[in-house]
Amino acid sequence: MVGLGRSGYAAARLLADRGFTVTGFDSSFSATATEHISTSVFGDFLDDDLQGLSVLVLSPGVPPSSAISLSAYRLHVPVIGEIELAWLNTTADVLAVTGSNGKTTTVEWLSHVIRSSKKGAEAIAAGNMGYALSDAILDHPGCPLFVVELSSYQLETTESLKASSAVILNLTPDHLARHGTMENYGAAKARVFMNQGKNDSAILNFDDPLLRKYRNISGGLQMYFSLKEEVLLGSWLDSSGMLMYRDGTGTTELMHHSRLSLPGRHNIANALAVVCMAASYGISVESIVPGLTDFPAVAHRIEPLGMVKDLLWFNDSKSTNVDSLKVALESFNEKVILLAGGKEKNSDYSILRELIEDKVKALVLFGSGAEFLSRQWKGTVRTVVVSDLEDAVEQVQTLAVNGDTILLSPGCASFDQYKDFEERGNHFKELVQALK
Ligand code: ADP
Repeated sequence: MVGLGRSGYAAARLLADRGFTVTGFDSSFSATATEHISTSVFGDFLDDDLQGLSVLVLSPGVPPSSAISLSAYRLHVPVIGEIELAWLNTTADVLAVTGSNGKTTTVEWLSHVIRSSKKGAEAIAAGNMGYALSDAILDHPGCPLFVVELSSYQLETTESLKASSAVILNLTPDHLARHGTMENYGAAKARVFMNQGKNDSAILNFDDPLLRKYRNISGGLQMYFSLKEEVLLGSWLDSSGMLMYRDGTGTTELMHHSRLSLPGRHNIANALAVVCMAASYGISVESIVPGLTDFPAVAHRIEPLGMVKDLLWFNDSKSTNVDSLKVALESFNEKVILLAGGKEKNSDYSILRELIEDKVKALVLFGSGAEFLSRQWKGTVRTVVVSDLEDAVEQVQTLAVNGDTILLSPGCASFDQYKDFEERGNHFKELVQALK
């Protein structure tokens, strides 16, 4: 097992459960996971360490071009990823979700919709969203269905997966450092359709021209979802704001988008993808609707924290780049007090100037990127620069009046002050709760 993080550890657990003796490899000496692992090799490895292995399993963070994979290839040791390992060890169906943005939301939403449908099927969300598929299949041995979030990294090291239904939500320049070009990145994503046959479904975002070109890549039934246009097979938002679905048997009007439980146009797109995935899995269209209307928000993604001190608070700590911040601001009808900052990305934040004037009442900027953001948005709205989130929450109270909406949507990475976006979001929630 190479890489002893969360999914590496889960893979080791699965391998041990299936009777393998596990050797763990990690380039870092700080890797701590040891349970289920008989021998650990930290730091540099030797070819001798790989002799006699039946398989080398890679964590998603370890590319197939890494030195250890190349050595394994030379020694004729098969190399697979954690998802491949998990897939080879389950007989359950898999619905697979990939894309640049919206994966976790869609995976959680889809499994909720399936569980709350008339079919009432058991469905467990797993994969890239923080619950490794290897863990999920061990924790839920009889589960007939896993809804799996897949990153392009995971897809690169997966060969035999056959998803009953699979979707690419969207494609934006991301992870180009590893994939080189958009074409390579798209090709890695399109692997989500590998091995599909005529009883499977392949779903693409019709509004993304780059994605449309993958329409012949799957052996499954091709469906689309679109916010803009009626499609022949799949789901779309019509001009009156209704969510529509069409398959071989006819066209159904599901509901008005204003009844969706998640805000924002991006979540209408996610809902349309959920509709295609659930319907193609055999969930009747009518029984998809309840789960679309009562799905609770996913933590750290425009997550409502309720009214505290007569202010309405939202935690969007997952917003770590300009795109996410844009999407968050566009989701609100009213003006917000925006808390943004952290470690800025190498992007042009000034593209948000107009949106900030339109949607933001005041800016509270924190963290190492605060001064940078303040320069990028100079002259837009009232701005206060503070050192950290605690000060930001403090400041909000001097700026807000009763009934104001307060949004944490940092638009920046969290690493300047936090381990990850989850730690940042949880800290924010604690600070807000402490105001009660
Ligand atoms: P992922 O798992 O792909 O990172 P998430 O569901 O965690 O996606 O959402 C992360 C952020 O991506 C959200 O906070 C939102 O800003 C943005 N987002 C979600 N869905 C979409 C979408 N369909 N299109 C564009 N942006 C989206």
